[in-house]
Amino acid sequence: MTAVTRPAAGPVDPAGAAAVLRAASSVLLVGHLRPDADAAGSTLALAVALRRIGTDVVVSFGGPDPVPGLVAALDEHGLVVDSADAPEAPELLVCCDISSEQRLGDLAGRVSAAGDSLVIDHHASFTGFGNHHLVDPQEPATVTLVRAVIAELGVELDAELARPLFAGLYTDTGGFRWGGPGALRLGAELVEAGADPRTLMDAVFGTRPFAWLAAEATVLGGARRDPDAAGGAGLVWAVVDPATASRFRDQTVTLVGQLRATAGDGVAALLTETEPGQWSVSMRGTGTPDLSRVATALGGGGHAAAAGFERSAGGAEEILGPLRAELAAAAG
Ligand code: 5GP
Ligand code: MN
Repeated sequence: MTAVTRPAAGPVDPAGAAAVLRAASSVLLVGHLRPDADAAGSTLALAVALRRIGTDVVVSFGGPDPVPGLVAALDEHGLVVDSADAPEAPELLVCCDISSEQRLGDLAGRVSAAGDSLVIDHHASFTGFGNHHLVDPQEPATVTLVRAVIAELGVELDAELARPLFAGLYTDTGGFRWGGPGALRLGAELVEAGADPRTLMDAVFGTRPFAWLAAEATVLGGARRDPDAAGGAGLVWAVVDPATASRFRDQTVTLVGQLRATAGDGVAALLTETEPGQWSVSMRGTGTPDLSRVATALGGGGHAAAAGFERSAGGAEEILGPLRAELAAAAG
């Protein structure tokens, strides 16, 4: 038997993560449910790199919700399978951009079923689930960690790898608003490697159905502002009903950014009733109050300036009550 130098359970650096990956001949890669471009880009870039070194790879995203359209735009090799078809007991499970087991959706059981597991993540709210952890909340995106792992695997960066990495970097840095010179340097490296921002952004985020304009006007027209919330910083919020949520799943995620632009130093929250009685709340702010703390208190997680949570409720007021209370507590 060949000696495999696999790190012990616990924190790993990118070289340690590469060692865990090299020890596996088949890998299931999973990004968080309702993946954004960082979840999709980090899993798909790593999957392509692993395929290059001869690893058997499958990528999946937990249900029950359908996978958003942006995933297809980044999945150039058709590596994504439905969560129902993901291997039951993978040799190695790799979770990208996932802060807690519950964010695997209906794939959560794979964590205990897998022979080994590696989590690559950048959430302050990381719960410590899984076996090996490459987790750094200082990183602006999961793709920056994946970029380092790909380098440790000795796989050369090319356009195929650069595209999903760039999409994730662009999204999680808010279009390079955050992440400083390091993010811009990596962005430049990815563009040099062949990621074309214009065609990529058009393919991933560019097109929307015409009917969306009216739906967007309705949701934004219903937005409300509560100037006393969050210790006086204010809260701007809007509600997406279940019909709009299911018809325009790929589009509604953009709305929280528009609310945020009107929230000043305050907090923006988009309350989406994904199905009757089930709510998914997406929050944006400046970092003060710490929205990761607010979301964690309400059963979710995230970052100081972008976080979210899910819960059942009979109506928006049942979400807003606890949300206002946690915002006030976090604002201190
Ligand atoms: P978004 O609002 O773009 O869905 O998410 C913003 C940030 O909060 C992301 O980092 C995302 O992973 C995290 N987040 C959003 N919703 C949830 C949730 O329900 N649970 C947890 N743990 N994190 C969430
Ligand atoms: Mn992310």
